[in-house]
Amino acid sequence: MKQGRLFVISAPSGSGKTTLCKKLIRSFAGRRRLVQSVSATTRKKRKGERGGEDYFFIPKGEFLKRRRQGEFLEWARVLDNFYGTPGNFVKGHLRRGDDVLLSIDVQGARKIQRKMPNAVFIFILPPSFQELKRRLKARSTENRREIARRLRLARRELGFIKNYNYVVTNDKVKKAVARLKAIIQAERNS
Ligand code: 5GP
Repeated sequence: MKQGRLFVISAPSGSGKTTLCKKLIRSFAGRRRLVQSVSATTRKKRKGERGGEDYFFIPKGEFLKRRRQGEFLEWARVLDNFYGTPGNFVKGHLRRGDDVLLSIDVQGARKIQRKMPNAVFIFILPPSFQELKRRLKARSTENRREIARRLRLARRELGFIKNYNYVVTNDKVKKAVARLKAIIQAERNS
């Protein structure tokens, strides 16, 4: 059976990546499957988030134990919290021929690039820095200091853009989803 393809999406926090990924997954329902991997994190749950759906929220001790046991395909520390991609889930789906979507940071994407060079790397850009700031404020899940940290991180993350195969600007959600779909379909046919 043909192996599935791995798609890796990175974006600065507040670029609307979560919404795009959810819509993208839904748009492939009923066709050739695109499944999203759910990461483990030590971060606190935000309002509206669900364990097992947005993330597996686990304590730091548990995360470090799983990391030691080699359960993560990649892991990274982002702004004081740990995040990791479940290796068995991703490899199992790829083996079965499903395409898999990872929504991870730039450090994690580098690790995947070394391990799985055939993966497809997509970077999502907010329309502007001003807009990113506005979205982070509107989300109001972080305080001012935290927002400033996320903006500084976003500037650093932009430096990694050259490692990605595609860059998609999230100006209008509908348009951005259509662009992502086109990339996935093109890569499937290549
Ligand atoms: P947030 O806390 O805003 O949900 O995510 C912070 C950052 O961690 C985002 O860039 C997000 O893509 C990234 N992230 C989420 N899950 C993983 C993961 O499993 N591995 C890595 N390396 N980054 C992740």
